[in-house]
Amino acid sequence: MNALAIIVAAGRGERMGASRPKAFLGLGGQPLLLKSALVFEAAPSVGGIVAVVPPEEIASAREVLAGLRKLRAVVAGGRRRQDSVLEGLKQAPEGFAGVVLVHDAARPLVDVPLVESVVRAAAEKGAALPVLELVDTVKRVRDGRVLETLDRGELGAAQTPQGFRFPLLVQAYEAAFRDRITLTDEAMAVERLGQEVAAVPGSARNRKITTPEDLAWAEGVVTGVLRA
Ligand code: C5P
Repeated sequence: MNALAIIVAAGRGERMGASRPKAFLGLGGQPLLLKSALVFEAAPSVGGIVAVVPPEEIASAREVLAGLRKLRAVVAGGRRRQDSVLEGLKQAPEGFAGVVLVHDAARPLVDVPLVESVVRAAAEKGAALPVLELVDTVKRVRDGRVLETLDRGELGAAQTPQGFRFPLLVQAYEAAFRDRITLTDEAMAVERLGQEVAAVPGSARNRKITTPEDLAWAEGVVTGVLRA
């Protein structure tokens, strides 16, 4: 099979302050989860899609994603993001050795060229993720006091989809769970093994929707009022 895309949508999205989990909020008339899934449906290198959602949203997620030809499974997520990713990894076909992609449903404005560039780099290097250059000067701050200014040239913001040769991510996840590490993204698990992780250029459009302001921005982008 071609690449397997795991879309994680099992977070509660508390910073959004909405009554439904974030992935089910509308953007341009479609739930965020569907918006992301349609990009993977359209990406030539992707062969299957797994959606990981809150347990109580499985039925509605199945309805939302019903038209997708590549949909393989809709499963319940876990307490932490990494627990949700693990549930998705369990849905890979027996003996799968291709590229697995992990994507936040909270990044609905991802696009096909970005997906394809991550798949290519992951197949070649073993692990890859989009990184967006920082435009702001970055400070290390503790208790309201600036400790130092970091070298912006070496810093970047990690985005998704993050891509891996499947056996490498499984190995990295096993090690992280064994060592009781809390992961904030998948690449972090692979970095711990000392394995190379390739950075491909991220995009400003691929911003994570966290607050109502982010959703308003995305609505402006999809309706053409705003440029990303
Ligand atoms: O909370 P945060 O915005 O970092 O979540 C990033 C992505 O991970 C979201 O798409 C969210 O739905 C997902 N997630 C998950 N399971 C969790 C926590 C977060 O699938 N337990």
